Amino acid sequence: MFGIVVVFRRSPQNEQVHFSTSSDDSSVFHSEVDFRFKTYAPPAFDHFRVYFGVSQEDFCSPLRELSSSGASGSLFYISKDDEFILKTVQRRKTTTSPSSGRLLSKSETKSRTLLPKFFGLYNYIPKTGGNKNIRFVVMNNVLPSALKMDWKYDLKGSTYNRRASLAEKMKPYPTFKDLDFVEHFPGGLILEEATYNALMRTLERDANVLESLKIMDYSLLIGIHSLDLAASENSRQMQRPKEVEKDLEESKIQKRNRRKLVAHSTALESIEIELDDMDFEVPFGGIPARSRNGDNLLVFLGIIDILQSYRLSKKLEHTWKAVVYDGNTVSVHRPEFYARRFMDFLKSSVFCDRSRPIASNLDIKT
Ligand code: ATP
Ligand code: CA
Ligand code: CA
Repeated sequence: MFGIVVVFRRSPQNEQVHFSTSSDDSSVFHSEVDFRFKTYAPPAFDHFRVYFGVSQEDFCSPLRELSSSGASGSLFYISKDDEFILKTVQRRKTTTSPSSGRLLSKSETKSRTLLPKFFGLYNYIPKTGGNKNIRFVVMNNVLPSALKMDWKYDLKGSTYNRRASLAEKMKPYPTFKDLDFVEHFPGGLILEEATYNALMRTLERDANVLESLKIMDYSLLIGIHSLDLAASENSRQMQRPKEVEKDLEESKIQKRNRRKLVAHSTALESIEIELDDMDFEVPFGGIPARSRNGDNLLVFLGIIDILQSYRLSKKLEHTWKAVVYDGNTVSVHRPEFYARRFMDFLKSSVFCDRSRPIASNLDIKT
């Protein structure tokens, strides 16, 4: 637990949000303020929160730390209500935050997008402790933790070094990468034609927006829940004691109550598909899919890690990597190439239209 109950109460005179400390997750807010928060571009983010349908109350939630930290050293926290991810960012990255503002206003005119929804950008300034400011962004959580993700992938469309490390694989819920996906799902994720087309249209447009802003190194985060695995697990647990049944029933009610809010960012609602066309109930708004073996799956997804511009340091990095390795397969490349390779990989190896199956995605270059 982060030890902070996030209270977004802005004082009318200034642009500072006052937070309160708390060692538990009780909702008793302390009046004493140990530190202050600077909010960046509050009118813009107020606007986005309204646009995304997130109310002030939704935005008050205790946090717990996530184990999924990337190589960049950022820390991740998830809100207890499962809605928000808080990611710490280095100063270098937030200098590109105007582009995320631009990005939001670009994508805002279009209703469906898988781009991250940023609800705020903050700077934590302790009263004491000198220079220990921490900047962080608050964004939507892509993967509902109430549903078990049997597989999780961070996909870039690059093949160079895109396999989860041994240490990652040892984790209870590892995040796998491109080459692992190709191995686990050789026929890709098979979607209904209308769903496939809607997803591709949405991804294509998002990739174009990122390219136009010269952003790259982003990923498509995919969580896959197997309905078949869940069903067999359930039947194994048929003989549960009464108390366990009661707990489960309560958690089901909680989940149901939460559904409305989770719907702000469900995978199905993020793609350009008419929900009325779906004649079945989809738990948690996942996208229904099948594996080549006929397993029934629910797919959750979103684009993440976009706060980075293609700048000089990257250009230099690319130049020397291109000399050492094949320039097309290193994961640092021009934004245009990055976007095209990202989409090509998703089309050729990850998603497929039921009427046009992919034979095998195992022959991609490694
Ligand atoms: P690097 O730059 O090394 O890739 P990073 O510190 O920038 O790492 P991210 O790529 O943003 O980190 O995220 C790391 C992991 O955290 C992801 O692979 C994913 O498992 C999880 N994660 C990040 N953002 C979200 C989100 N919005 N919803 C759910 N999980 C997320
Ligand atoms: Ca990153
Ligand atoms: Ca990343």
